[in-house]
Amino acid sequence: PKALVGRVALVTGAASGIGKAIAARFAAEGACVVIADLDATKAAAAAEELGTTDVAIGVAANVTDAAGVQAAFDAAALAFGGVDLVVNNAGLSISKPLAETTEADWDLLHDVLAKGSFLVAQQAARVMTAQGMGGDIIYISSKNSVFAGPNNVAYSAAKADQAHQVRLLAAELGAHGIRVNGINPDGVVRGSGIFAGGWGAKRAAVYGVPEEELGQYYAQRTLLKREVLPEHVANAAFALVGGELTHTTGLHVPVDAGVAAA
Ligand code: NAD
Repeated sequence: PKALVGRVALVTGAASGIGKAIAARFAAEGACVVIADLDATKAAAAAEELGTTDVAIGVAANVTDAAGVQAAFDAAALAFGGVDLVVNNAGLSISKPLAETTEADWDLLHDVLAKGSFLVAQQAARVMTAQGMGGDIIYISSKNSVFAGPNNVAYSAAKADQAHQVRLLAAELGAHGIRVNGINPDGVVRGSGIFAGGWGAKRAAVYGVPEEELGQYYAQRTLLKREVLPEHVANAAFALVGGELTHTTGLHVPVDAGVAAA
């Protein structure tokens, strides 16, 4: 039998990139899936790719808005009876040198990544503790939560905030059977809206390579000499919740082909 039959997943930012790949993998493993993203039309379109509304729905939700987050969980309850698997994936990036980083850049990144994932995890914990059956929360943090790089201070600091939320919530929610784990991807160029929307051009400039070669550039600096794609992050998400890692919480799994270990 499929490993996630009977489970209901809510994935933020799942109309694109890594989140979309995670939603697809969870659906393929039998879960019902709620795709929560900024744009209702895109969220609904991504859900439709996964099947009919009895297996996947799209909802508009801005993770920085507590009422919107609650509405997304309410929609999940209405459609599928609850939620027991939540992925904090919504995100964006701004790459600037320290001197050019504005207060607005800092606030936006911390609003979406730090506050947004807090609000989603808080609502997830409310729902899961009320259900009384445990659950899983996954944060898509970043290699940048741990390792420093140039022109990245606001994003990396917000990612480090997410990584510490993983540890704090693993401690607080463990007694309810709720496991909280993180994934630290790096260099997911192809398929990522963040990279396509300007981040890729800026990183390519930082590394001095043409943007179209950025995926290969990232691959050659890994230990495995492999390009990381959204489905590789989805594989790790499934590994965390598919049934074997029952006694693992507070873990950060790198999905970077070995960059962080180098
Ligand atoms: P993406 O742009 O393809 O996906 C991000 C999604 O988040 C988009 O659909 C966007 O609409 C949504 N989103 C943005 N702000 C939101 C908000 N306030 N509320 C709800 N949804 C919102 O990018 P991606 O590369 O798939 O990134 C997904 C996550 O992975 C992000 O948190 C990112 O920081 C993280 N990450 C990516 C990489 C990489 O190499 N691509 C590396 C490390 C971490």
